[in-house]
Amino acid sequence: MNKHIPYSTQDISEGDIKSVTNVLRSNFLTQGPLIPKFENKFSKKFLTKGAVAFNSATSALHISCVSLGLKKNDIVWTSPISFVASANCALYCGAKIDFVDINNETLNIDITILKNKLDIAKKRKKLPKILIVVHFAGNPVEMEKIYKLTKPLNIKIIEDASHALGAYTPKYKVGSCLFSDITIFSFHPVKMITTAEGGMALSNDKKIIKNLLLLRSHGISRDINAKKDGGWYYKQLDLGFNYRLNELQAALGINQMKRLNYFLKKRNLFAKKYDKLLKDLPLILPNKKLGHYSSYHLYVIRIDSKKTKKKRKEVFDFMRKANIGVNVHYIPIHLQPYYKKLGFRKGDFPIAEKYYEEAISIPLHSNLNDKQQGYIVKTLKKIF
Ligand SMILES: *Cc1c(COP(=O)(O)O)cnc(C)c1O
Repeated sequence: MNKHIPYSTQDISEGDIKSVTNVLRSNFLTQGPLIPKFENKFSKKFLTKGAVAFNSATSALHISCVSLGLKKNDIVWTSPISFVASANCALYCGAKIDFVDINNETLNIDITILKNKLDIAKKRKKLPKILIVVHFAGNPVEMEKIYKLTKPLNIKIIEDASHALGAYTPKYKVGSCLFSDITIFSFHPVKMITTAEGGMALSNDKKIIKNLLLLRSHGISRDINAKKDGGWYYKQLDLGFNYRLNELQAALGINQMKRLNYFLKKRNLFAKKYDKLLKDLPLILPNKKLGHYSSYHLYVIRIDSKKTKKKRKEVFDFMRKANIGVNVHYIPIHLQPYYKKLGFRKGDFPIAEKYYEEAISIPLHSNLNDKQQGYIVKTLKKIF
């Protein structure tokens, strides 16, 4: 039996291990010098006014919503094909969530559907306060087109770029926040780089950065002015949380960032090979616009019902039996039991639902090797 091949996994080097053990021998385990160093790596790379590290992308999404002033009964829109955290963050604030159906090719929010939905919402005076854009699988969204629609309506944009560290279009580098208020990355082990758990929020607005910093740590100000009553004094200005990353994680993140280009290259190489090796099977393969660079968090194949009678479940079970860690990304958020209780129904977002019926993520990560990829392809070919 072949060794289990996961759909994604962390890639940890001896250098990564050393960077973490060094922290254990140092004076700081939390809130030391490495967290700002890790943050600076991001604000320098993406030329933003700031970057704030969090203990997860979910925390970063939550605080981003709070920082943009999201309140009870405000409205947030996002994609139904994402991890539940993209929508949960709105609910944490007591806001209402709604979804914009995806484009059948990019698998990201469909721009035309968004435009129509905005037109209707404007007439009904039910515009969202925030739109959360997801760069699904690492395939970058054409943000300038979204911004053109939302800017005149004063809608804020958060990019959930959990999949998309390193992705870009000819007009836009994901992370630069040129067409958004805040961009979030995730450092969960299956993502582009890892800090075990962790996330980062970037912004070009200094007020937002200040707010993110404050709310990440209990709402307590580290401002020098707070010390005027005495050296012991600290000031709680708002109701914040403990959503901090620690020094061990920051050390790992700094070293992983040095390896980002290698990770991206590997993922892109394996993806290109899948494109070639799978092109004659009855599958719909990932679609990427010319000149767009994907970070390839996921490689999603879709069973093409026009070309085969085989169902997704058959293919999925066959692959799992062969010890290949296929997965499905994602069950549409609105079909989750919790979201159904909020009033969503099957049929609400038909393109997302059809995509879900067909989709399987096959293994793609930097620890994959040619032999494993060959085995995955051979196993798929056996099915059809
Ligand atoms: C992984 C992921 C998250 C959550 O990231 P955590 O760091 O695990 O909290 C949010 N959104 C998307 C799209 C993700 O893939």
